[in-house]
Amino acid sequence: MTGLSANSLRALPSVDQVLKTPLAQTAKERFGRQATTDAIRAVLARARASGLAEGRSSEADDVAADALEQLKSAERSSLRPVYNLTGTVLHTNLGRALLADEVIEAISSVTRKSVSLEFDIEKGERGERDDHLRSLICEMTGAEDATVVNNNAAAVLLVLNTFALGREAIVSRGELIEIGGSFRMPDIMTRAGARLVEVGTTNRTHAKDYVAAIGPETGLVLKVHTSNYRVEGFTAEVPARELAAIAKAQSVALVHDLGSGTLVDLGRFGLSHEPTVREAVADGADLVTFSGDKLLGGPQAGFIVGRKDMIAALGRNPMKRALRVDKLRLAALEATLKLYRDPDRLVERLPTLRLLARPEADIARQAARLRPVLADVLGDAFSVDIIDCPSQIGSGALPLETLPSAGLALRARSGGGHALAALAQALRRLSVPVIGRIENQALVLDLRCLEDEAGFIANFAGLARGEADAMA
Ligand SMILES: *Cc1c(COP(=O)(O)O)cnc(C)c1O
Repeated sequence: MTGLSANSLRALPSVDQVLKTPLAQTAKERFGRQATTDAIRAVLARARASGLAEGRSSEADDVAADALEQLKSAERSSLRPVYNLTGTVLHTNLGRALLADEVIEAISSVTRKSVSLEFDIEKGERGERDDHLRSLICEMTGAEDATVVNNNAAAVLLVLNTFALGREAIVSRGELIEIGGSFRMPDIMTRAGARLVEVGTTNRTHAKDYVAAIGPETGLVLKVHTSNYRVEGFTAEVPARELAAIAKAQSVALVHDLGSGTLVDLGRFGLSHEPTVREAVADGADLVTFSGDKLLGGPQAGFIVGRKDMIAALGRNPMKRALRVDKLRLAALEATLKLYRDPDRLVERLPTLRLLARPEADIARQAARLRPVLADVLGDAFSVDIIDCPSQIGSGALPLETLPSAGLALRARSGGGHALAALAQALRRLSVPVIGRIENQALVLDLRCLEDEAGFIANFAGLARGEADAMA
């Protein structure tokens, strides 16, 4: 408290004086009396600790303004919309799939009133929440029955726990995936209470390896789609169809974890063929699991489709209750799946497919429109160039494939890495943060996922002129 004179302390207004100012009135109307009083106290305490030490006095209006700012920033959600210009369409850290307008409407329609979540309106009896999606999923996949849980990780956990608790689950060594986060197949097995039996080697697994491993202790055989990597070169794996025949001959269940699990042939977008759910079902797996918010383009969810008796067994596992989805997601999933009934308009309506299918020429034209806008705001400190930049699907779908795209490369004319990092930070601090990627000493903004161009320009203008010069 050195340097704090009795004079300057007296210069601080009282809480009551501040509360009488017009700005404090505004704050009270918006945030309530209690929160406003607390914020004023906090500002005064800070002023006492620092401001007055420098001998400054604070007017009641200044304190009220600071308190209002503090209340506004505390109110802003930490879960904020951002511009995903990373070039990864399904970015797990940025929330994966964007939902279609029809889906957003479906969600809001089940939030304001009570809904028939587990109620059979016809019979006036208790119903099942899976009933809302069952027939739709079966129609889309050709499966006999279906259920939905929190995400695909939960789907795999539930399946293992139901059919391999205290028993063996057989997996190829080439398919013991880690997805990121902490989803590692061997760890999930342990938590599910299953004993992992690895067969084959990292690069080659043969039919005879599975045959030798199947025995009286076998709970299930698990085939895992190696979604986020490829083993190339001298490799061998047993195709799902052949593995299904082996499992069937030994009367054990085959479960196929597809990961992304697309419902459409990605070949339509010039990508390689990724096994569809319908194919995995037709290939003879007893159960197939896949995600809701990867290529399917819906909300986070895990689908389990396949044999009726096995889906019923999943329903009897008490864990199912802990992993179930709520009414909001059921509504969103139903609306998402319904979009697939009209394949002609699917790409236009489902944001994930629309972004994946966006033609390179269209993105390049956007880059040409935006280049001068960004160059103008960034001034002399940074160069802005149009570049070709390959986008990725993300979320572990076709990890080696890219989609030709276009973007803008922002480079610091001086100041090197520091200036670039400062620019990246300034873009993250815009009202809608802009997230790019740093590559070859450039901040790259891949424009594939930029649909709201006018909003982007208005937001970018928030980067004050002169701010860019100061970074260099
Ligand atoms: C992504 C993925 C999972 C996990 O799915 P989530 O929906 O993210 O829980 C499991 N298995 C495979 C093969 C995957 O690709």
